[in-house]
Amino acid sequence: MEYSLVTEVYEKIESTTKRLEMTDYLVDLFKKTPKDVIDKVVYLTQGKLYPDYMGIELGVAERLALRALAKVSGRKEYEIEEDLAKTGDLGETAQNFLEKRRQVSFFRKPLNVERVYQTLDRIARATGEGSMDLKVNLLAGLLADASPKEAKYIIRTVTGKLRLGIADMTILDALAIAYGKGKAMRDIIERAYNISSDLGKVAKTLAEGGIEALKSFRISVGNPIRPMLAERLSSPAEILEKLGGKCIAEYKYDGERLQAHKSGDNVVLFSRRLENITSQYPDAVELIRDHVKAGDAIIEAECVAVNLDTGEMMPFQELMHRRRKYDIEKAAKEYPVSLFAFDVLYVDGKDLTLEPYPVRHKVLEEIIEQSDRFQIAKYIIVDNVDDLERFFEEAVEAGCEGLVCKSLSSDAIYQAGARGWLWIKYKRDYKSEMTDTVDLVVVGAFYGRGKRAGTYGALLLAAYNHEDDTFETVCKCGSGFTDEDLQNLPKMLEPYRIDHKHPRVESNLEADVWFLPKMVIEVIGAEITLSPIHTCAKDIIRKGSGLAIRFPRFTGRYRTDKSAEDATSVDEIVEMYRRQLKKIEAE
Ligand code: ATP
Repeated sequence: MEYSLVTEVYEKIESTTKRLEMTDYLVDLFKKTPKDVIDKVVYLTQGKLYPDYMGIELGVAERLALRALAKVSGRKEYEIEEDLAKTGDLGETAQNFLEKRRQVSFFRKPLNVERVYQTLDRIARATGEGSMDLKVNLLAGLLADASPKEAKYIIRTVTGKLRLGIADMTILDALAIAYGKGKAMRDIIERAYNISSDLGKVAKTLAEGGIEALKSFRISVGNPIRPMLAERLSSPAEILEKLGGKCIAEYKYDGERLQAHKSGDNVVLFSRRLENITSQYPDAVELIRDHVKAGDAIIEAECVAVNLDTGEMMPFQELMHRRRKYDIEKAAKEYPVSLFAFDVLYVDGKDLTLEPYPVRHKVLEEIIEQSDRFQIAKYIIVDNVDDLERFFEEAVEAGCEGLVCKSLSSDAIYQAGARGWLWIKYKRDYKSEMTDTVDLVVVGAFYGRGKRAGTYGALLLAAYNHEDDTFETVCKCGSGFTDEDLQNLPKMLEPYRIDHKHPRVESNLEADVWFLPKMVIEVIGAEITLSPIHTCAKDIIRKGSGLAIRFPRFTGRYRTDKSAEDATSVDEIVEMYRRQLKKIEAE
């Protein structure tokens, strides 16, 4: 297929402002395209060589493209730069210069799609020593045989600036028209895309095998599935109503979504945007390899950095350490992730995406050997507002964003690539920020694990209630302690140790060790939230709930100058909570 057929369509697309016309041009193009190159044509029209998830990018630096252009046009680089300063588009500059080319080759072979694609592919893959020169030479070779118009598009493609703005959905529409008729067909094509994330593969399967081939299009391990997304509501009553009065409510962990593809011992991880992020999470790869009891499987999980010594979930920002290229192993040691699995899409040859969620959830429970670091997302099955609200508070306090409530109905399939009402997220519609530190009383402690074995993993902290002369718990705090603090804490607290909860302490939690309310420490948290667990200000803001400090952290100051009764009071915490509420603009 001649490349000029493709560039003619590019020109038309660039000159139209109407989406329908754009689709028509694509339909014409696809009809003219031989079946064996349709995948390549599809990728090229989106300025790509492969589906995004393969991570092979064109993006040749403008400098290199300019060198190739100088070579072919017989001009100096500075002349090209001058023209580029005027046009602002190296593609257009290329067209200008090739129109004025000094030596026109009489033996110019017309370019075909295969050659353009293969050359661009070699350019994209060239790495290492000498690769710059190789890229320039390959590009120059292509430009030498290109017409000025073709050169314009080749340059734009190779520099990652072919901006025809053709959305995936437009390509699907055009394929449906070019190869069949009717909406039913469109749905089948779209589903194939949603379960493969590969438009080229879908186009080729359709062109070669017709709609029948697409109907039997299968999920394959290694090809990411476009993620199912949630709608949002802000009242538990509405959520329950929308989900038929009953749903499964799950913690909405605040980490990074992973779609894990396991084939034997080989594990590949895709992000929410379907980039391959396997190298960022060697620890997650290992967890999946060790804990998923299936040969082949595709599961989805949220990965969260968790302090293993205390069991506390860390804020999402901790995962940023995984973005860097180097020292991933170090980051994985310092901030290891835990996985919370929430769906399974495929197991040993069986596509589960069309099964209802209760079935998928059961399979998930069967194939995952749970451990401290790899769990099924915490859930309850719920049919009333109160329980849902309480579970929500518990989730927020534990460090989650809220809940994802999911339909239990028999048609609750995995809607790949769609945001629908089978999943409804419930996040807070306010945000609070803690700006002040608080001084809290140590009333209990929990034994540590791992590095903290032999000392305390977290302290149970309380605020003072003047009216009742009691100490009401407000958080478990395990962060901010230095190694020295940890070593000294058991000694420092020993004088206050008692073998039962002190009568002035109000706690729903069972600590491993209890103390006389004496020691006061300074703590800062991210915010104050409602809590079904802590007793601070119980029933004051909402019936059945107390207040808790989220992500508490010891500042390093032991307030030896304060007695327990001088600690921050419950009233102050209530006041802080009220002051800090701010409405979040709906997303
Ligand atoms: P958000 O910023 O709210 O995460 P989003 O557009 O990325 O928005 P949504 O579909 O609105 O995604 O919310 C679902 C997201 O929540 C998933 O992408 C996933 O990363 C995360 N998540 C955490 N826990 C769960 C869970 N138990 N079930 C489903 N998704 C979960």
